[in-house]
Amino acid sequence: GEKLMNKIVSLCKRRGFVYQGSEIYGGLANTWDYGPYGAELKQNIKRYWWKKVVHERDDVVGLDSAILMHPKVWEASGHVAGFNDALIDCKNCKSRFRADHLIEETLGLHVEGKSVKELSEIVHDNKVKCPVCGAVDWTDARVFNLMFKTHQGVTEDSSSIVYLRPETAQGIFVNFKNIVDTCRVKLPFGIAQIGKAFRNEITPGNFIFRTREFEQMELEFFVKPGEDMEWFDYWRNFTMEFFTSLGVKKENLRLRDHSPEELSHYSKATTDLEYNFPFGWGELWGVANRTDFDLSRHMEYSGKALTYFDQEEQKHIIPYVIEPSLGVDRAMLAILCDAYREEEVEGETRVVLGLSPVMAPVKCAVLPLFKKEPLEELARKIYHDLKKVFTAEYDNAGSIGKRYRRQDEIGTPYCITVDYESLNDNKVTVRDRDTMLQDRIEISKVKEYLEERLI
Ligand code: ATP
Repeated sequence: GEKLMNKIVSLCKRRGFVYQGSEIYGGLANTWDYGPYGAELKQNIKRYWWKKVVHERDDVVGLDSAILMHPKVWEASGHVAGFNDALIDCKNCKSRFRADHLIEETLGLHVEGKSVKELSEIVHDNKVKCPVCGAVDWTDARVFNLMFKTHQGVTEDSSSIVYLRPETAQGIFVNFKNIVDTCRVKLPFGIAQIGKAFRNEITPGNFIFRTREFEQMELEFFVKPGEDMEWFDYWRNFTMEFFTSLGVKKENLRLRDHSPEELSHYSKATTDLEYNFPFGWGELWGVANRTDFDLSRHMEYSGKALTYFDQEEQKHIIPYVIEPSLGVDRAMLAILCDAYREEEVEGETRVVLGLSPVMAPVKCAVLPLFKKEPLEELARKIYHDLKKVFTAEYDNAGSIGKRYRRQDEIGTPYCITVDYESLNDNKVTVRDRDTMLQDRIEISKVKEYLEERLI
C-alpha cells in the first residue's frame, strides 16, 4: 500500500500533476499545487460532475457563492458551536491525534457522533497504543474548532471576524430564497456548487486526501418532506454510478451506511461512498439526509422566511434536503490510484495511467518519427488541426519508444505517429494506449476516428 502510494506521489511530481506547495521555500506542510496535467485532470473532474449534476438534468441549477460569509451563517449552521474535533496527545512521545481517527485506525470503530468525553473514555478504556511510540499514556481529549478565522477590514476587533468557509453548502442555503424567487424552480429541485473550502485539520495527510484547503462539489437537493428517503436512495446510488461510469473498478468502491449512533444531530440518514485507497478505505463522497435542519436554522437566525409555496397543498412548507458532497481532490486521488498500473512489456516495465478518455489531461499526442522536415511540417499541421477539438500535445524529442512511455504515464489515450510513408500515402499510425495496437488511417479521418473513441 505505502509503496504504491509513493509511486503515485512520485509520478504526480515527475510528470507535472501535483507539486509540493511553496517548494522553493522548503514547502508548506500539507499544501499541494496542481501542475499542468493536474490542473487539467481537476477541471475534467469538475466539468464531468457539473455535466452529470447540472447540465444533463432539468431539476438542478448552479451557484457560485462567496467564500467569506456573514459570521451569523456559522452560528446558524452550528459550525461555531459544534464544528469541533477532539484532540488527544500521547504523553510519552507528544504525538497529537484526532481522537476519532485514532480510534478508527486502532480499534476499527466508527465514532462520528460521540462527545469529546466519550472519545476520551474510549481511548483510555481500550488502552489504545500510540501508533508512533506504542505507549498507552494519553492526555484527556479536548475540543478544537476546525474553522479558519481571519479579520475583515483594517482593524482587528472582534466585530470584524470572518471565517473561511469550511463547506460550500451554507452558501447554497443562504441563497435558497433568491433561487426560489428568481429561477422558477419547482420541488424537487437542487442547487449545485463547486468551490474551495478550508478546515484547520488536526491530522492532514495521505497526500491530497486530507488537506486544510480543498475543493468541494456539493449539491443540496430540496424535496417534499415524506419524499426524502426515496431521494436519499436515488443520490446514494448516483454516487456509485458516477464513479463506475468513469471506469473506476467496482471492487474498489463501497457504500457504507452510518449506524444510528454515528449520525450527526441533523442527519436522518448518511451514507459514505468509500474508495479502497492504498492506505485503506476512505470517504470519497458523503450523502446525507439533512431534513429541514439548515433552512429552519437560517430562518431562526435571519428572521427570513425560507419556505416554499406548495401549489398542490396550498401552503408554505420547509423542504427537506438531501446533500451529496464530494471532494475534488479526493476524487482525483481515487481516479489516479485506480488508473495506475505497471505492465511487463518485452522485459521492461511500462507504467500506464489507464484513465477514462473523459479524464485524460491530454487526449492525443502527435509524434513525428524523426526530427526532420518535411515530416515535422506535416506533423505540426495535423497537431494544430486536432488542437482545435481535443487537448493535444506535440512531441519530437527522443526515441519514439520513450515518447510513447511518457504519454502512457500521463494517460494519453492515443498517439499519432507521422513517418516517411505518411508523406506518400497520406496516412498516419494511431496507437492505442491500453492495447498498444496500431491502426494505419487516412490523415483526413483522424479527427473522426478520435471523436468516435474519445467522446
Ligand atoms: P472526514 O471524515 O474524512 O474528515 P467529513 O465527513 O468531515 O470527512 P464532509 O464534511 O462530509 O467530510 O465533506 C464532504 C466531502 O468533502 C468529503 O467526502 C471529502 O471528499 C471532502 N473533504 C472533506 N474534508 C476534506 C479535507 N480535509 N481534504 C480534502 N477533502 C475533504
